[in-house]
Amino acid sequence: MSDLFSSFLATRGLVVLDGALATELERRGADLRDPLWSARLLIEQPELIRAVHDAYFAAGADVAITATYQATFEGFARRGIDAAGAEVLFKRAVSIATESRDAFWAETGNRRGRARPLVAASVGPYGAFLNDGSEYRGDYALDEEALVAWHQPRFDLLARSGADLLACETIPCAEEARALLRCLEAHPEVRAWISFSARDQTCISNGEAFAPVAAETGAHAQVVAIGVNCTPPQYIAPLVRAARAVTAAQIVVYPNSGETWDAVEKQWVDTPTCGSFLDGARAWYDAGATVIGGCCRTTPDDIAAVAAWAVSLGRAEGAPSCAMESSV
Ligand SMILES: [Zn+2]
Repeated sequence: MSDLFSSFLATRGLVVLDGALATELERRGADLRDPLWSARLLIEQPELIRAVHDAYFAAGADVAITATYQATFEGFARRGIDAAGAEVLFKRAVSIATESRDAFWAETGNRRGRARPLVAASVGPYGAFLNDGSEYRGDYALDEEALVAWHQPRFDLLARSGADLLACETIPCAEEARALLRCLEAHPEVRAWISFSARDQTCISNGEAFAPVAAETGAHAQVVAIGVNCTPPQYIAPLVRAARAVTAAQIVVYPNSGETWDAVEKQWVDTPTCGSFLDGARAWYDAGATVIGGCCRTTPDDIAAVAAWAVSLGRAEGAPSCAMESSV
């Protein structure tokens, strides 16, 4: 099922996702040293989140991912926010993104060569709530049934939030993907992508090979794309090739910038990388990815480079972007 993406693929040959939310929020002065991470801003500075969504749409993103990754009923409860209050904050996160999208699209000049952008409601992994790095290990104490029970209330809310689709991201193990697909099946009209975190160029974070997991999740009728995010860029191309060989689903990738997260020290560590983020995007596209953006430490500049390249890609392949651009 790629109908949600078909207009983007026809226009530019690529769906361009946004980049890091937290990195850009911090650059704008937000303090995210908090178990709620960027979700804290939903309470304190929603206008900053809006400004970052605005920046990514202006940079050329086709999809904004909402500030709900680390937002959970349990996390808000620890701040004394009850379920009703949490529900307001989840809905606020989605409405901030849809309002940004609608304002962007209301400007005629912004429509040139573009399809109307989408809003994907982020569904973070159980490990992101634990805040102990287990979303990069997958060593959960919960089994599939327990993961369904944990995810379902937030999933139900986000599925009915007005977002165009759900972004199930940084998933470390097939068991959690299966739990999320069961949550998804409670909403037959809703679409989602399932994106895993990976530990190397072959395996997702808990050590399972990516290829069979990609084949299994990619075959689900409500899944619009499967892929990998929050993973070092050097692992991405081999993972995409492995998935491309076993599934006809769209492949989504949004790696980190190349810096490494130290889960013990809770800080980013510089690691040498080869080439720019755009160089990586070209390689991921050549490997078979069609939905490309950035995760941690990526910036609007990274996304602008990918989006500008995507336009030339559409022209090179004779996609309708030439006609659309010259006729507007
Ligand atoms: Zn990330």
